[in-house]
Amino acid sequence: MSFTLARFVLLHSRVCSEAATTTKNNGGLISTLKKRKFTSTAIPRAQNKTSEELLVVVGGGAAGVYGAIRAKTLAPNLNVVVIEKGKPLSKVKISGGGRCNVTNGHCVDNKMLAENYPRGHKELRGAFFNVHGPVDTMSWFSEHGVRLKIEDDGRVFPVSNSSSTIIDCLMSESTHLGVSLQTGKAVITASPTAGGKFLLGIEKRTFSSPEYVEADYLLIASGNSKQGYSLASQLGHSIVDPVPSLFTFKIEDPRLADLSGITFPKVKATLKIENARRNIPQLTQVGPVLVTHWGFSGPAILRLSAWGACVLSSSGYKGTLIVDFTPDVHIEDLKSILTQHKNRFAKQKLSNSYPSEFGLVKRFWIYILGRQGLLGDTLWASISKNSLISLAHMLKHCNFYVTGKSQYKDEFVTAGGVPLSEISMNMMESKIQSHLFFAGEVLNVDGITGGFNFQNAWSGGYIAGTSIGKRAVGA
Ligand SMILES: Cc1cc2nc3c(=O)[nH]c(=O)nc-3n(C[C@H](O)[C@H](O)[C@H](O)COP(=O)(O)OP(=O)(O)OC[C@H]3O[C@@H](n4cnc5c(N)ncnc54)[C@H](O)[C@@H]3O)c2cc1C
Repeated sequence: MSFTLARFVLLHSRVCSEAATTTKNNGGLISTLKKRKFTSTAIPRAQNKTSEELLVVVGGGAAGVYGAIRAKTLAPNLNVVVIEKGKPLSKVKISGGGRCNVTNGHCVDNKMLAENYPRGHKELRGAFFNVHGPVDTMSWFSEHGVRLKIEDDGRVFPVSNSSSTIIDCLMSESTHLGVSLQTGKAVITASPTAGGKFLLGIEKRTFSSPEYVEADYLLIASGNSKQGYSLASQLGHSIVDPVPSLFTFKIEDPRLADLSGITFPKVKATLKIENARRNIPQLTQVGPVLVTHWGFSGPAILRLSAWGACVLSSSGYKGTLIVDFTPDVHIEDLKSILTQHKNRFAKQKLSNSYPSEFGLVKRFWIYILGRQGLLGDTLWASISKNSLISLAHMLKHCNFYVTGKSQYKDEFVTAGGVPLSEISMNMMESKIQSHLFFAGEVLNVDGITGGFNFQNAWSGGYIAGTSIGKRAVGA
């Protein structure tokens, strides 16, 4: 059992009065609560400042709904209204291929966890995950009746393998607490009032004239919507230019299409971008890569796209990808393996026989021969020493020209948004406007694949909800 898992179980059994039963299944731990339990840390009503105060949450996504639930849990008399222009939790629905990768269960400490955020890794190292990290997220969902499992690579999913389980949980908790969820409406304007409130212009899909509402607290959790950035600007915030992150690479090489569908379980890939002003160590990644009909995909490529999102955007998504297809074999060993193979299989054709030590598939071997200008019918005996050395170099430093990006269907996020320097991270409150809070993707935070993006939404929503709830009850 990993450290994280052990902490999850420990914390979980401490929080719940009912006994939790645990079983191993599907390569991960499944926690089953015998009874559904709403843990309410609500402060008694008598202490509430007023029951008239209003929190408006812009956006019914993961961050907004989680934040609303937390605020209403702490301050039951606070009016909490979530305004959602489309369908609530629509990204949760499609996330993780419909399974919802809720968080990541493999990060043993918060500093290590923060390393998974190309934008935010410095700022998230502090209190952010201490207040509400992946273990807290797992506990929260388990306490609210969702059975979770951790897969071998650390990704956490509902045991049901259905994102609807997460949606049902959040929606039923919102209803149970009395959070008002208003759909089909968009918050289009926001301005501070002299009395320290927010005047919000809300437009219904069906009506042309907006209605106006005065809110005591405002939580902007609008994801990557332009309207959300506009609201932040109207309230005095700057916006770091939004650019896509987590995409696959288009590669200029017609012969690569013949390799479509081949997976390399472990390559070392380095992305070089012309005119990149700074050296980004994370632009070298080791991991699986998949050849698609347009180029490269897979975890190592998605990580490169995330770390290179801003520089790639400025370069027009042009760069060079240098791939080491045998990262565990030293170049000198590679040369001697090829020489030994030549001596042993001198009478065999190049295309029919190649060293098994490299773990490469035949289609790819033929591709590499083609790139070296070697014909498959050539016998190993006729290969020159220089050709063997070139083959070894090609396997270690194979260059591909990146000519563009393609959107990855399973996960896609936006880098950029409200800069974290304008946010007090232990409260998720604006440093520019008191009582204004932000959470989720609207901020200049984005993670690599593996559940880190939702974790940012849960943590931010929880911290903002806590700050608002406590202030509403005068704590
Ligand atoms: C296909 C896909 C799959 C993904 N899979 C995963 C995954 O498995 N794991 C993971 O960690 N991450 C995943 N992500 C990323 C994850 O979905 C986001 O990081 C996360 O949804 C961000 O949550 P949020 O609440 O900040 O924003 P959102 O989920 O985008 O919610 C914002 C909401 O605000 C609403 N809104 C915006 N402006 C306004 C306005 N002015 N008025 C009213 N409403 C407004 C929007 O309609 C939206 O519903 C995936 C993303 C995509 C696109």
